Amino acid sequence: MAERQILPELLDRSIKLLMELPGYGERSAQRFIENLLSLPRSEALNIVSTLLETLQKLHPCAECGLYTEETLCIICSDEERDKSTICVVEESFDAFAIERTGRYKGLYHVLGGRLSPLEGITAEDLNIKSLLDRIDKGNIKEVILATNPTVEGEATATYVYNLLKNKGITISRIAYGLPFGAMLESADDFTISKALEHKIKL
Ligand SMILES: [Zn+2]
Repeated sequence: MAERQILPELLDRSIKLLMELPGYGERSAQRFIENLLSLPRSEALNIVSTLLETLQKLHPCAECGLYTEETLCIICSDEERDKSTICVVEESFDAFAIERTGRYKGLYHVLGGRLSPLEGITAEDLNIKSLLDRIDKGNIKEVILATNPTVEGEATATYVYNLLKNKGITISRIAYGLPFGAMLESADDFTISKALEHKIKL
């Protein structure tokens, strides 16, 4: 006897698509859809249409890679920022976390990830060439490596450091007010401020 398919086809398809997101298993995918379906329909549609709009309108800044709706992000187009310093982060959300502290006045560069041999992420997958291009233009005096204090983040910082060390600029690494293994984007403002303040010249 053929197995009867009880799960509506659309639910099945939605769950399978959500399971393609890193960290999403069948249960979390089911829970996500279940939560959406149990909301008042207008609220659920608002969430989904906002996500859709975000996906349609946001793209990486042409200069630094921060998510923006414009060609250049709000930081690259701000004349008041210190254009001689670049803070290198893994993801846009790391830069947004640093911005929340209000302590940093320079520019950013978003690598778009971290070196991870296990996940097959190599230097070619990261925005490293564009970082070198920015530095070769000659206006940059300091680079702060603010990748996360994890094994992959450290390896990434070391890799970038080795590419930059002979370029005649100051290179520093954020200090470990952050516990090893912590993620920048979820650290509190005080901890991030301290990590920037006590950065270590490499
Ligand atoms: Zn930018």
